[in-house]
Amino acid sequence: MMFKAFLVKYSEIGIKGKNRYIFENALRDQIKRTLDLVEGEFKVSKEQGRIYIEALTDYDYDEVVESLSRVFGIAGIMPVVLIEDATWENLKDEVVKYVKDVHGDDEFTFKVEAKRGDKNYPLKSPEICMELGGYLLEHFPNMTVDVRNPQVRINVEIRTKAYVYSTVIPGAGGMPVGTNGKAMLLLSGGIDSPVAGYMIAKRGVKLDATYFHAPPYTSERAKDKVIDLARLVSKWAGPIDLHIVNFTDIQLYIYDKCPHDELTIIMRRYMMKIAEYLANKNNCLGLITGESIGQVASQTMQSLAATNEVCTLPVYRPLIGFDKQEIIDIAEKIDTFETSVLPYEDCCTIFVAKHPVTKPNVNIIKKSETHLEEKIDELMETALNTVETIVIKPGE
Ligand code: ATP
Ligand code: MG
Repeated sequence: MMFKAFLVKYSEIGIKGKNRYIFENALRDQIKRTLDLVEGEFKVSKEQGRIYIEALTDYDYDEVVESLSRVFGIAGIMPVVLIEDATWENLKDEVVKYVKDVHGDDEFTFKVEAKRGDKNYPLKSPEICMELGGYLLEHFPNMTVDVRNPQVRINVEIRTKAYVYSTVIPGAGGMPVGTNGKAMLLLSGGIDSPVAGYMIAKRGVKLDATYFHAPPYTSERAKDKVIDLARLVSKWAGPIDLHIVNFTDIQLYIYDKCPHDELTIIMRRYMMKIAEYLANKNNCLGLITGESIGQVASQTMQSLAATNEVCTLPVYRPLIGFDKQEIIDIAEKIDTFETSVLPYEDCCTIFVAKHPVTKPNVNIIKKSETHLEEKIDELMETALNTVETIVIKPGE
C-alpha cells in the first residue's frame, strides 16, 4: 500500500470563528465513526486547520476513499505518502518515485510547495521548492513549471518524516452532521424524500425519519423498501431513528367520512400533524419533505399552503424549486434511485381520488375535517402509541 495516510481539507467549517473547534471536533468524530465501519485501524487527529488520518494497519484504499467521500464537511481528501528517511538525498529520489507512481507520463504544469516543520533541516523551504522543482524537471520531460496557476501542486512537508501529496479527491462538501441540530424527515418509498433528507443532512442536520405504513394496503415489502432507503441515506447522514406509524385506520376513517377529491390533502395534513408530534418528542427542530411545487395535485401552491397550515415547526422542502429530472440526478448520485423505483405500492397511491382538488381552500378542508371529530383523536392516539422505532445504521 503506497498511501499510509490522508489529509482532509475542510469546506465551510474553516470560517466559523470561535465556534470552529466545535465543527472540527464534529468532523473528526464523523470521520472516526465512518472509518470504524471499514477494515483496518486508523488514527484520526486534528492539526493546523486540517484533519490527519494515519493508517495503522493494512486497509482497502478504495473502500476508505469511498467512505470518506460521504462525510459532510470534507472539501478534499489528499492521499499522503510518508517518507521515513527524509534526508535530502533520499527525499529527492522518493519524490521522483512518488511523481512517477501517481502521475505517470501525464503532461501537466506543476509547482512544488514545501513546508519545513524541522527548522534544523539543511535546506529552507524556498530552497526545497527550487531544488526539487529542478530535480523533477530533469527527470520528467512531460512536466513544466507554472508557479502561478499550476495544474498539480506537489506538496512536501518535512517533520521527523516527510509527507508528500499532490492529488485532491473532491469531498462531499456541506457541514458535519450534528452541528446544526436535528430534523424529522417524512420518508416515503419514492424518489424525492430520500434526496430531501440527503440535502438537509448535508447542511449538518442529523435526521430522524417517519414513515406512514398502511397494512394490508401497503405490504411488508413496501416497508422494507423504506428501511432500505433509510439505510442508503444513513450512509451520508449517519444513524437514523426511523419511526413507523400505522396509518391504516386513520386513512380508512378519512376515506369513509370526507369527500374523496380532498382525501390526499386531508391525509397529508394528518401525516404532518403526526410527524410534528414525533418531531417535538424527539427534539427535532423542523420537518423535511420531498415536495416540489406543482409536481402533483397535492403539491400546488394552494395544496402546500393547506398542508403547511397544520404545523408550527418549520417545514423544510429542499426540492421545492427542482424539476423531477434534477431530483433524479441527485438520487442517482447518492445511490437511492434504483431502490426508489422498485414497484411497491405507496399508501397515497391506494387511496388517491381520480380527480383530486388542485386548489384546495383551507376553510373548506377544515369543514370537511369536522366530519372526523368523533373518532380522530382516539385514532391519532392509537397511531402514536403503536409507533415502531428502528435504529438504522449505515453499515448494517
Ligand atoms: P416521494 O418521491 O418522496 O414519495 P412524491 O412525489 O410521491 O414524493 P407525495 O406522495 O405527494 O410525493 O408526498 C410528498 C411528500 O410527503 C414526500 O416527499 C414525503 O416527504 C411525504 N410522504 C408522502 N407519503 C409518505 C409516507 N407514506 N410516509 C412518510 N412520508 C410521506
Ligand atoms: Mg410518495
